[in-house]
Amino acid sequence: MGDSKTIQNRILKHNDTRTDVKRWNANDTINEFIKDEKEIQAIQDEVEGHFQGVLDALVIDTENDHNTNETAKRVAKMFVREIFAGRYEPMPRVTTFPNEGGGNGSGRYDQVYISGPITIRSTCAHHMMPIVGNCWIGIKPGDKVIGLSKFNRLVDWVASRPQIQEEMTEQIADIIEEQTDPEALAVVIKAQHFCLTHRGVKEHESDMTTSVMRGKFQKEVALRNEFLSLMNNMRGHHS
Ligand SMILES: [Zn+2]
Repeated sequence: MGDSKTIQNRILKHNDTRTDVKRWNANDTINEFIKDEKEIQAIQDEVEGHFQGVLDALVIDTENDHNTNETAKRVAKMFVREIFAGRYEPMPRVTTFPNEGGGNGSGRYDQVYISGPITIRSTCAHHMMPIVGNCWIGIKPGDKVIGLSKFNRLVDWVASRPQIQEEMTEQIADIIEEQTDPEALAVVIKAQHFCLTHRGVKEHESDMTTSVMRGKFQKEVALRNEFLSLMNNMRGHHS
């Protein structure tokens, strides 16, 4: 048994009795408070019921309109299982390896490398409209490294929530920092916001770029410039 109120109450109870207070904002994960798959299904069913109410309020005859007959069901599934799945599913499993991949089989890799462009598919928390773009991650590793494909999975987990681009960039940096403890870390996101292209000013050239620099990328200008020039030569900047 479970629904969103059960889970909310669990979070409130946790916050009452512990010092590590948990938020359940739109772009937070609440996975640790969900007991099992049945509870995720219960959330999905509840969203379906409420979304049907939204369609009713919009005065759409969903009973006789074959286009919208199943829309509440489809939207609820899309929200909970796909575009907001990063709130409900656990963090992707990440295995770290010791950094001993330096040349000649000795020493460690101590150069800057970049992973990207990683596709960003997210949703604006203000308007529930898509955010679509690219992400680049620059790393000068410390003692630990992770497989390149893990960057994509971590980025996707964070992006699969109602987001604000600046906070999404910080959240991605936080997780990668936690997992790899690098000497230098950069996260750059360039994305288009459909809430700007489809409404309001209908501005079609509305890309937004956000970046977070940590460790030596923050302190050492030459290293940061090395990252920026490498990144700017990668594809994905003019899409
Ligand atoms: Zn928006």
